[in-house]
Amino acid sequence: MLADAAAEHATVVLSAHVQPDADALGSTLALAEGLRRRGARVLATFPEPFVLPASLSWLPGAVGLVPSSAVPSSPDVFVSLDAASPGRLGELAPLLDRAGTSVVVDHHASNPGFGDVRVVDPGAPATVTLVADLLDGIGVTLDATLATCLYAGLSADTGSFRFGSTRPDTHVLAARLLETGIDHADISRRLFDTAPFGWLGLLSTVTGRARLETAVGAGLVWTWSSTAEAAEHGLPGEQLEALVDVVRSTEEADVACVLKGQDDGTWSVSMRSRGATDLSRVATALGGGGHRAAAGFTSHADREGTIAAIRAELSTSPSSRTAARPRAVPD
Ligand code: MN
Repeated sequence: MLADAAAEHATVVLSAHVQPDADALGSTLALAEGLRRRGARVLATFPEPFVLPASLSWLPGAVGLVPSSAVPSSPDVFVSLDAASPGRLGELAPLLDRAGTSVVVDHHASNPGFGDVRVVDPGAPATVTLVADLLDGIGVTLDATLATCLYAGLSADTGSFRFGSTRPDTHVLAARLLETGIDHADISRRLFDTAPFGWLGLLSTVTGRARLETAVGAGLVWTWSSTAEAAEHGLPGEQLEALVDVVRSTEEADVACVLKGQDDGTWSVSMRSRGATDLSRVATALGGGGHRAAAGFTSHADREGTIAAIRAELSTSPSSRTAARPRAVPD
């Protein structure tokens, strides 16, 4: 389908999910470039706010991204990448119906199934692995430009190949990407090991107020911050995203949560499990979605109300009753 669309010079609009991460943007930029090389007229975008995280603005092709207001409302083809639900496409969601054909490429366990053509595999460790298959399918040869985008998404969503979702074919793809000559150490440094000095101060404050509640489910550790607090440390709100990766190392808790207060007064909640709790189920019950080991949702309650709802869901979680202690799952 995509090969024919490209050969016929169809107009293809590709969109990542709102507040795109490395997998969403890497998928979008790689497939956009591949389709462009095969003849399609391509526009790549993502929903408002149209602000690229500094850690991703260097990705090849990122300067060519356009705001949602600049894409046609009824393209020949619309491709959604790494979005677990239509809601994650924001104001671009209507294109799922208005486009001649809509294609959904995603790997979230909570994906309910939407779009005309569904390339959805919950077993895939990242959406970029599905994009690599699509590029192979339309006869695009991987080069360093495409590989940089794909490697960014692959390393980010697998936690640099540490998470349980990493499979033998994940490393086979990584080997193909490295063979194009990309500087994987530089990519990793930009993605994971670079932050302004103010991040250390924010980290100190946020980890200092963390609470451990071993009686909740298989153990809960949680803390909170906000875009306003990040600003006090001279940081953009995107710097809140990495906090959960520190909090989740807590041995006594299977589940780690970070509540991130947004400018509009809502709480954006990131959750991670060490293996005993199905967070895709928990997040879906709370109005969000995600994977078994990593999920999230948006709460309109206050901070105490939000954590109370999480406690209630974890306490009713089937896995928490059968697993008093976290299982030894590598992550
Ligand atoms: Mn992803």
